[in-house]
Amino acid sequence: MLLSPKSSIRPNLAKPRLTKMRVLTTCIYCGCGCGLWLEAENGKIVGSYPSQNHPVSKGGLCIKGWNAYEFINSPDRLTVPLIKLYRNSLSPSPHSSPLRGEEVGGGVSSRGGNFEESGWNEALSLVSKKLLQFKEQYGPDSLAFLSSAKATNEENFLMMKLARAVFKTNNIDHCARLCHASTVVGLAATFGSGAMTNSINEFEKADLFLVTGSDTTEQHPLIGSRIINAVLDKGAKLIVVDPRRIELTKYATIFMQQNNGTDVAWINGMMNVIIKEKLHHQKYVEERTENFAGLKELVKDYPPEKVEKITKIPANLLIQAARLYAQTKKAMIVYSMGITQHTTGTDNVKSLANLAMLTGHVGLPSTGVNPLRGQNNVQGACDVGALPDLFSGYQKITDKAVRDKFERAWKVENLPADPGLTVTEIFKKVKEGKIKGLYIMGENPLLSDPDSNQVRKALEKVKFLVIQDIFMSETAEYADVVLPAASFAEKDGTFTNTERRIERIRKAIEPKGKSKPDWQILAEIGKRCGYREMDYRHPSQIMDEIAALTPIYGGISYERLEPFGLQWPCPTKEHPGTPYLHKNEFTKGKGSFIPSHYVAPDESPDREYNFALSTGRVYWHWHTGTMSRRTSLLAREVPSAYVEMHPADAEKLKIKEGEKIRVSSRRGRIEIAVKLTKKVKEGSLFIPFHFREAAANVLTNPAIDPVAKIPEYKICAVKIEKI
Ligand code: SF4
Repeated sequence: MLLSPKSSIRPNLAKPRLTKMRVLTTCIYCGCGCGLWLEAENGKIVGSYPSQNHPVSKGGLCIKGWNAYEFINSPDRLTVPLIKLYRNSLSPSPHSSPLRGEEVGGGVSSRGGNFEESGWNEALSLVSKKLLQFKEQYGPDSLAFLSSAKATNEENFLMMKLARAVFKTNNIDHCARLCHASTVVGLAATFGSGAMTNSINEFEKADLFLVTGSDTTEQHPLIGSRIINAVLDKGAKLIVVDPRRIELTKYATIFMQQNNGTDVAWINGMMNVIIKEKLHHQKYVEERTENFAGLKELVKDYPPEKVEKITKIPANLLIQAARLYAQTKKAMIVYSMGITQHTTGTDNVKSLANLAMLTGHVGLPSTGVNPLRGQNNVQGACDVGALPDLFSGYQKITDKAVRDKFERAWKVENLPADPGLTVTEIFKKVKEGKIKGLYIMGENPLLSDPDSNQVRKALEKVKFLVIQDIFMSETAEYADVVLPAASFAEKDGTFTNTERRIERIRKAIEPKGKSKPDWQILAEIGKRCGYREMDYRHPSQIMDEIAALTPIYGGISYERLEPFGLQWPCPTKEHPGTPYLHKNEFTKGKGSFIPSHYVAPDESPDREYNFALSTGRVYWHWHTGTMSRRTSLLAREVPSAYVEMHPADAEKLKIKEGEKIRVSSRRGRIEIAVKLTKKVKEGSLFIPFHFREAAANVLTNPAIDPVAKIPEYKICAVKIEKI
């Protein structure tokens, strides 16, 4: 049975009938936001299929979308709340043990003994009681909250509200800190808005793509195929700048394989050529931007010959690329975490924005600067304020008028005014003993954050850890309380994809076991803490609250999102949404050129640690593998961890395909099988970070960008040994 769009927007409080049905929803994996149908039979999801009419996916899905259901039925799903009882506790009752984590020493799960099943009442009472107790005893900033780019907008908004209105702390952040924090900061500074400027459908009409730091066909497959189709069918040109010989290089007009971590240098080099040859858009620069003189002065220092020495990009290739980009009418810059995950991530993003403004390639269809957001709802989690310095809609917490508005709406006083801690800072403060209580929703930092051994120490140290998730992740093993959450198929809500499209997800089946949607759990905790303003019957009411408080979402309601969503800014009920930004002027008025000098990565190969390691994802898996490794087809294709190595390096070291080697950095070591490939350069290695048995983040460098606080995942120095 197909649900009509009209019927699907109503609160679905009734239990689905035990029949076969299909429900239109949005893919849970990447930021493309493809539309898919979930097929349910007798209360179980049995298939997922593409939506022919969806404006982004247009009847297509990648392999993850086609298989976005098996994990929902996994026997590993968390179905009841769990409370850890400690071996040395005099009393087995969690209620009589005020600081249960203190009773055991360090060590893994050593933090505690065994989990025991509990009822919701007991688990929620324990969580609210402990968090309130810590707030009173140690102050509001002894608590921290990690929200989730996999959860809905409504759930992220509620976690933000819980942290700020109930516990009076701004210590709330999520994994955007680890992927695109530098985009949010860099594009906000140059353009006034830290989001993708254009739309996925505009890829079809572009004349040129400059793709850098994005393995698009692996990470955003639907967008990758749009680029390839534009090249093959419409003759679009493609410039790829990447340290790895990625799939897109097969279709590239120009491929520039730079040394990892040298992006500011090559971008400045392109601008040097463009200005020197007077290929910049003089009128656009004069009318729409400021600080051209500053940019011109700085990029004088980056002639192509000097850039070649830093980046290893041949000078003549850089000159050709600069001319081609500047002289093409509709040119789109596309980038992702190869640009952002550096200690110079913010400078990298600002430099790309400079390049686009210099050539007039912003504010028109099929142009712009287009960061591809990774997680399905990382854009939305940022939009609704799961960030330590911003309320929803990027409204500053330091602005008294904004705080007053939220205080009136939420019926609270004294919302905290100082920016809170970021993800990376939170774990540091836990280790210093400053953060005592940590509440993590839908994240697995033990595998996803850099320098895992230090994250492990923090998880061992924190006094009270709450994990809310659909699976018992590696991080959840350290929890005091585990709250079982419903999957995306078991709840209503919205995700916002990479092109700012707010889209519905729709409930197809009942939550598994006793699990509950995240929004219900968070609202329950708020209410148990004595806060009355978290009483919702359906997520559409939370969206109404978001719209009332958030100008860029001002015109959004569940009715208006039918059938396929709207793109923000959408400030009023009549506004049709915005496919591309900065049309006649930038969000901040004039666009600002903010030039930067090249600074080397925090850690480069040396005599001892002589390889440059980069990490990332592969097509078949997703993040820490909690969903994709529980999907048989995906797990079969790539069952285990590997390190990519150039055959020339392997020959020198007498290493064979498939051989297990030890890879060590200054922070830890792993043992992993070798995959020989010319995708990586000689002297470089690449490890996907999905695999707990050889976790890449044991090796990565936690050094951060000083502004965006994003870690430098994309380069660290390692050595290898035969074992
Ligand atoms: Fe899902 Fe992304 Fe694949 Fe689309 S491209 S089906 S959103 S994983």
